[in-house]
Amino acid sequence: MAASRSGVPASPHHHSRMPRVTIDTEALKANWRTLDALNGPARTGAAVKADGYGLGAVRVSQALFDAGCRDFFVAWAEEGVALRAGLDAAGLGDARIFVLQGVALDDVPACLEARLIPVLSNLAEIAAWCEGLERAGAKAPAALQFETGMNRLGLDAAEIPIVKAAQAGGALDVRLVMSHLASADEGTEQREAQRRQFLAICEYFPGVERSLANSAGSFLGPDYAFDLVRPGIALYGGRAGAPSDGKLEPVATLTAAVLQVRTAKAGEAAGYGAAAKLSRDTRIATVGLGYADGYPRAASGAGVPLRETRPGAVAFVAGHLAPVLGRVSMDLTLLDVTDVPAELVEPGTRAEFFGPNVAIDDVADAAGTIAYELLTGLGKRVALNYQS
Ligand SMILES: *Cc1c(COP(=O)(O)O)cnc(C)c1O
Repeated sequence: MAASRSGVPASPHHHSRMPRVTIDTEALKANWRTLDALNGPARTGAAVKADGYGLGAVRVSQALFDAGCRDFFVAWAEEGVALRAGLDAAGLGDARIFVLQGVALDDVPACLEARLIPVLSNLAEIAAWCEGLERAGAKAPAALQFETGMNRLGLDAAEIPIVKAAQAGGALDVRLVMSHLASADEGTEQREAQRRQFLAICEYFPGVERSLANSAGSFLGPDYAFDLVRPGIALYGGRAGAPSDGKLEPVATLTAAVLQVRTAKAGEAAGYGAAAKLSRDTRIATVGLGYADGYPRAASGAGVPLRETRPGAVAFVAGHLAPVLGRVSMDLTLLDVTDVPAELVEPGTRAEFFGPNVAIDDVADAAGTIAYELLTGLGKRVALNYQS
């Protein structure tokens, strides 16, 4: 089934020529199980913020719940409310939903209603949460995030006495203490320092669940797993930076249809700015996918600054790799299909832009970005299809 994320009607069948992402929910579950097995007794949660890394938070979470996941992380209370509604509608009641970006006073009623657990990262948020609980006459669990080296969100260790006072006051019921690794996938020095600092902070919260590791951290062994790991990108098949992340399966496949095939002569050019100068007679497949769909212009075959330092992206058509030719435009991308047997490429043929045959991280490398940005940047007119 295709889910439309815009006013554009999405075909429930596969007849639409529009771009689509196919999400392999079995691969998603397999990746969760792989990570879960790596970390023994620790619980394995899932980061499903930004609409499940672009893949549909509700459907992704339902699949992960089915695999055994019970701890979900979103960024905003609004995302948590939508996720709770989706899980409740599917009868999946006992999931914990953590809101990484905490709460403002106005968010508290919605958080309570949806049974969200705010991750409080500063004293103002703690005060807002406690006041909101008092106004509502409610009691509810919260999580705390501490700063250990990223200088992003988090309480400072020096604020622990104030936090303890709020706890003693009875309103603040801390169920999880967490921090976030800045360099889980590069170098050991900073992450070791963060781990030591985190351990010292956790001393003040005896018996409270602890969580430090994201995807890359999930590969670092028991020293980093604590009680709960919070992978995101690895679940979705992105590179997590560990040698053993090769066991993860691709989850998302972006495909788009060839609209026209034409042959241009050596010496001609193709696309905007005549950036692709053709050195041979070239068969060109024009595909209905562009930067408006989230396929980055920086992945162009020519005519963008990154091409001075690294090759452009490739797609996979009819069993062959085909380089992106010239500049990616808003709605269209050209592929050089000269080396693909002519009879295999015609209007309607779908090309894979990332998936099992074109690693999403290779596309990201070509575009000077990361798989996270490709997934979360998928355009509104890209339909999501779930396959199990
Ligand atoms: C996004 C996020 C994660 C998951 O990160 P990945 O690198 O995708 O595994 C974990 N923890 C926090 C605080 C996050 O913001």
